[in-house]
Amino acid sequence: MQNLLDFDATALAEWFAERGEKPFRARQVLRWMHRFGEADFDAMTDVAKSLRLKLKEAACIVPPLVARDTLSIDGTRKWLLDVGNANAVETVFIPETTRGTLCISSQAGCALDCAFCSTGKQGFNRNLSAGEIIGQLWLANRLLGADPAGERIISNVVMMGMGEPLANFDNVVSALRLMLDDNAYGLSRRRVTVSTSGIVPAMDRLREACPVALAVSLHAPNDALRDTLVPINKKYPLKELLAACERYLVSAPRDFITFEYVMLDGVNDHDEHARQLIDIAHQVSCKFNLIPFNPFPNSGFERSPSGRIKRFSQILQDAGIVTTTRKTRGDDVDAACGQLAGQVKDKTRRTQQRVVPITQVHQ
Ligand code: SAH
Ligand code: SF4
Repeated sequence: MQNLLDFDATALAEWFAERGEKPFRARQVLRWMHRFGEADFDAMTDVAKSLRLKLKEAACIVPPLVARDTLSIDGTRKWLLDVGNANAVETVFIPETTRGTLCISSQAGCALDCAFCSTGKQGFNRNLSAGEIIGQLWLANRLLGADPAGERIISNVVMMGMGEPLANFDNVVSALRLMLDDNAYGLSRRRVTVSTSGIVPAMDRLREACPVALAVSLHAPNDALRDTLVPINKKYPLKELLAACERYLVSAPRDFITFEYVMLDGVNDHDEHARQLIDIAHQVSCKFNLIPFNPFPNSGFERSPSGRIKRFSQILQDAGIVTTTRKTRGDDVDAACGQLAGQVKDKTRRTQQRVVPITQVHQ
């Protein structure tokens, strides 16, 4: 059975063509599937009955399985998805007054092992398929229901969940194309953001394949420190990363890169670090988003005190750099940055307990 969620518009049209079906039929099904969130071929009433029968025999529309659905007191909603073999990933919806943002995962675990990241500590399990990635948006749309005023509930998507999106390039790009496709979700490129720890060649490929807004996890202003926090820096050091950012900006939908900067007490939050960041901001058009560190067991890091974060932010702002500090949301349901599925598989526990059944998560 072919899961049609795995196809972007082009791939779906090809699959239809191989079966002697016209491109407009593929478009009809694409619209039913993504615009209207329909999974039942029988409900696709303007699709010829003979084609519906054919589809039922050869294809299915199956999103990932929801293992847990949690609502935080601040309105943040988190879905834990069972992607098989005791692997779980998370999708988080963050409602705000002017927008609704869905944070999507791209991999079960992550191989890049950033020092302060609980996903990194789990190690890498596997890439999500294109269907599992777009399936998160498909599911969230269905589960959030329609807005009574007809407004879009999900207006923005950020690839900031578990995993490094650019290390799962083809599947992520397929999913991005569906997000942007008018027959699917029709989101503006400016409202879809890929966050990367800085895989330079893949940044160049993204620029060519599907330029969307880009966030780069900077986290340190110099190579010596960044090598210790974001190990991929040893392969693609700051000079190369910043050059890739500049190249990206040539075709990016926004005229700045968002630099994410996790605030780690006593590690990367000194005045001197902020001053070094000013030099970087002079090289690349950027905005800064400071992320108060979200602790997890045995991380070895503490969150910078709020006064320190304010001062750090002020130094950047005084230099004319737009700087925001991310509100920590969904703390009570472990949905804050870096806490996703933190208790599903934990390297430190792996020796005692190789697999934690999904049903035991978050107990
Ligand atoms: N792999 C991608 C995207 C996922 S992580 C990346 O690294 O950019 C999304 C953001 O959360 C990244 O900036 C990441 O560095 C940050 N993050 C990871 N662990 C965190 C933690 N414990 N507290 C706060 N932010 C964290
Ligand atoms: Fe992977 Fe991003 Fe976590 Fe680094 S911060 S380990 S790249 S998910």
